[in-house]
Amino acid sequence: MEPFAVQRLSGWGRFPVEECHVFRPEKRRLVASILGARSERNYIARGLGRSYGDAAVNGGGGVLDHSRLNRMISFNRETGVLECESGVSLAEILDTFVPRGFFLSVLPGTKFVTVGGAIANDVHGKNHHRDGTFSQFVDSFDLLTACGEVLTCTPDQNSDAFWATVGGIGLTGIILTARIRLQRVESAYVTVDYFRAHNIDEALAAMAESDDRYKYSVAWVDCLARGASLGRSVLMRGNHAGQSAVPGGEPYRIKSKFQKSVPFDFPGIALNPLAIRAFNEVFYRMHSTAEGKVVDYDSYFCPLDSIHHWNRMYGKRGFGQYQATFPLSNSGGLVELLEHISRSSMASFLAVLKRLGPAGPGLLSYPSEGYTITLDIPMRRDLIPALHELDRRVLDHGGRLYCAKDASTLPETFAAMYPGLDEFRAIKTRLDPENVFSSTMARRLGIVSAAEGGASHE
Ligand SMILES: Cc1cc2nc3c(=O)[nH]c(=O)nc-3n(C[C@H](O)[C@H](O)[C@H](O)COP(=O)(O)OP(=O)(O)OC[C@H]3O[C@@H](n4cnc5c(N)ncnc54)[C@H](O)[C@@H]3O)c2cc1C
Repeated sequence: MEPFAVQRLSGWGRFPVEECHVFRPEKRRLVASILGARSERNYIARGLGRSYGDAAVNGGGGVLDHSRLNRMISFNRETGVLECESGVSLAEILDTFVPRGFFLSVLPGTKFVTVGGAIANDVHGKNHHRDGTFSQFVDSFDLLTACGEVLTCTPDQNSDAFWATVGGIGLTGIILTARIRLQRVESAYVTVDYFRAHNIDEALAAMAESDDRYKYSVAWVDCLARGASLGRSVLMRGNHAGQSAVPGGEPYRIKSKFQKSVPFDFPGIALNPLAIRAFNEVFYRMHSTAEGKVVDYDSYFCPLDSIHHWNRMYGKRGFGQYQATFPLSNSGGLVELLEHISRSSMASFLAVLKRLGPAGPGLLSYPSEGYTITLDIPMRRDLIPALHELDRRVLDHGGRLYCAKDASTLPETFAAMYPGLDEFRAIKTRLDPENVFSSTMARRLGIVSAAEGGASHE
């Protein structure tokens, strides 16, 4: 079977870029036919390509683009359970169900993510400290395995395949459909309290003391601030707003936003440390401590979604997003990382900080109890060795990195960070003995042997 196109693909960070053979099936049965034909050495599923690195890239191999497998199949108003194809995006779900009084149970920092991608990275949102990851709200999914069998997986049925696929970066098979639970809400708005923390200690103390009063909690950190201001942040914490809090009598309606777009790749010079420092300063000053602001869900959960192609801001070379978690008992690791970043030339716009709740059962799921920090770093020639140095610091502090963001971690570092890796490998070998499912990331991280094909980073 011929691919739809040969395309140079990357993740959202635009590094690495690799030539892939892209298939774009319109029907679920065509996915099985493509795999059955085995015209490519191996395949990986792709959603909307919002992972930053190489999780949905397969240099020299097949990529199954799910953007056309986006049908909603059924919805139960009583239970809030939606059954849909895996290419349905969270944006489509919100557009359809918010006006009916339902909201996603977990929403990451962008809604341009598919249900398949959300399961395969077991994504988390601003409510992780309360509700856990996306998989906590997945009742079941149908998984097409390498031998063409369709396994219905739930936490009780084929449960090993379920917990390996959740966070399993597409390596156990193709998620065809899923049944996910939505939550009821009284409005499309969130009541948000803002708190300006003068430094990282104040931010962590506020999260520890009062995060449990909020369903959603996140902080934006100026990671260029130093000394007594190290880690100064704006905490934005909120709960779904009741109908009476929303003026105008249309609680489920939000104003459509003017869509902005970054029309071309910014030149590298636009992102110099001085400009970034000035931006961070303005952002910090603009947000003073305030209580009870009513904010629409789009602005609160996905502020960057209103700027199309914002990743072009980092220029043609792209950027890396670095996300690390440190255990609750070791916030010193987080402070050390902030000190390192504030002194280094890895200038980053505001970083995002969140206190995570306990880890779930997904074998390669990222979240574990502690503090997670996320920062964007423009790509440059010597960035990868500098990131390896950061990885070592994270590991020394008992921390780990997130596959959804990663493009550079070494296999030994990854193995040391994920104790569930051996069990994951055993399940993958049973479901996919010939490694039909592989990706640039899987080979880079040594989950699949590098000898199983693929191009190297350009
Ligand atoms: C602005 C922004 C903010 C973000 N904020 C957050 C956040 O707050 N929390 C968080 O957890 N993540 C966050 N992310 C990361 C994002 O949620 C994940 O990378 C998500 O997995 C992307 O989904 P996608 O549909 O684009 O999948 P892709 O990036 O295309 O693929 C991701 C993985 O899913 C696999 N996959 C996709 N579809 C299927 C399928 N049908 N069957 C099997 N495997 C499949 C792919 O093989 C790949 O390994 C953010 C990303 C961006 C760009």
